[in-house]
Amino acid sequence: MKTDKYIKGLGAFLKEAKTPYHAVAATTKMLKEAGFSEIKETESWKLKKGGKYYVSRGGSSIMAFAIPTNGKLESYSIVAAHSDSPTFRIKENAELSVSGKYVKLNAEGYGGIILSTWLDRPLGIAGRVFTEDSQTIAGGVSEKLVDLGCNVVIPSLAIHMNREVNDGYKWNIQTDLLPLFGGEATAGSFDKLVEKAAGAKKGELLGKDLLLYCPEELKVWGPKDEFCSAPRLDDLACAFAGLSAITEAGAAKGAVNVLAIFDNEEVGSLTAQGADSTFLEDTLRRIQIGMGVGEEDYYKAIAGSFLLSADNAHAVHPNHPEKSDENNRPFLNGGPVLKFSANQKYTTGGKSAAIVKKLCKDAGVTLQIFANRSDMAGGSTLGNISNAHVSLTSADVGLPQLAMHSALETMGTHDLSDMVAMMKELYK
Ligand code: ZN
Repeated sequence: MKTDKYIKGLGAFLKEAKTPYHAVAATTKMLKEAGFSEIKETESWKLKKGGKYYVSRGGSSIMAFAIPTNGKLESYSIVAAHSDSPTFRIKENAELSVSGKYVKLNAEGYGGIILSTWLDRPLGIAGRVFTEDSQTIAGGVSEKLVDLGCNVVIPSLAIHMNREVNDGYKWNIQTDLLPLFGGEATAGSFDKLVEKAAGAKKGELLGKDLLLYCPEELKVWGPKDEFCSAPRLDDLACAFAGLSAITEAGAAKGAVNVLAIFDNEEVGSLTAQGADSTFLEDTLRRIQIGMGVGEEDYYKAIAGSFLLSADNAHAVHPNHPEKSDENNRPFLNGGPVLKFSANQKYTTGGKSAAIVKKLCKDAGVTLQIFANRSDMAGGSTLGNISNAHVSLTSADVGLPQLAMHSALETMGTHDLSDMVAMMKELYK
């Protein structure tokens, strides 16, 4: 089978999107190539008919939008996804010495990590740094993306020293999961390495957000090339689907097409740039103002709008099919998934389900249904959180995947193009 262009594109996107900051940079690159231009939150917005724009917040969340060709604000068609994935964050004062012979790095967990999957594989360190810069307005600091260009490894303890490792071992993140950085001669060199990556002189480096990342590239596998594995599929695969859809669809008539990619979903979204911030509402408001549309027309538009909250879904696990609901259970390559939860962890209801089913029918896409087993809590995601700020008709969808929150996740190679087709239908 020939790997479709979206899977290829996703592989290239994931390679660049090592951290949420890099994900925003990779997103920006694709948007620019598709004719979107940047506007800043600190500037006035004068939006043109059919104009395509993007705005970022906090360096790790981004929104792209296309103004209707007829210049009318009738509704917003929104796709939301998230830029972050579970990982480890390097602490300030990172170096820890082991008997003066090893240097390891002090790190803390970010999000719900499957800890064991991070062991015994080369990991990269990347993120962003801030240096002193009197030319910039933001407090006199300038920001730069970095990749330290070195690997670290979190080594397992040999089974001879940990006989219970296969009996449900309880990992301790502070003692079991610290990455080995270097040997004796590397003592005192971590900060220098960061300074070098930042192109900064000693003392110029003022701040940093550094994360571990799994550098493995997307690999297509299976006798019929039916599966692929890669890091950060949750939720960069949906972010990439939204990005492909909005760049291909461009501007619609009457509806503002919006793609919202939020950081910090994995830690509850309550940050200045997360789904539990004012970012979406502020952006929708400023689109209204920038289009020269009145207050009442904004409320009318919101009442007629639709949000597709796109975050990956659990496919039936080959070794544990009993963990899935009996008849609301998606499989890899069965198509995008519509997610239901009676407790409204997912926003899908009868009406929004009908809208999604109609989108799929029109796009020729097969839809699968997910609900948790009634005795399992499951996760929550973006839709219900952003609905607390901007309340609109919404549904939760996702790509079916295995091993969610592992360092390396697995999905089907046929589902991504169907997800793009469904999103493009919304943007029509
Ligand atoms: Zn997710």
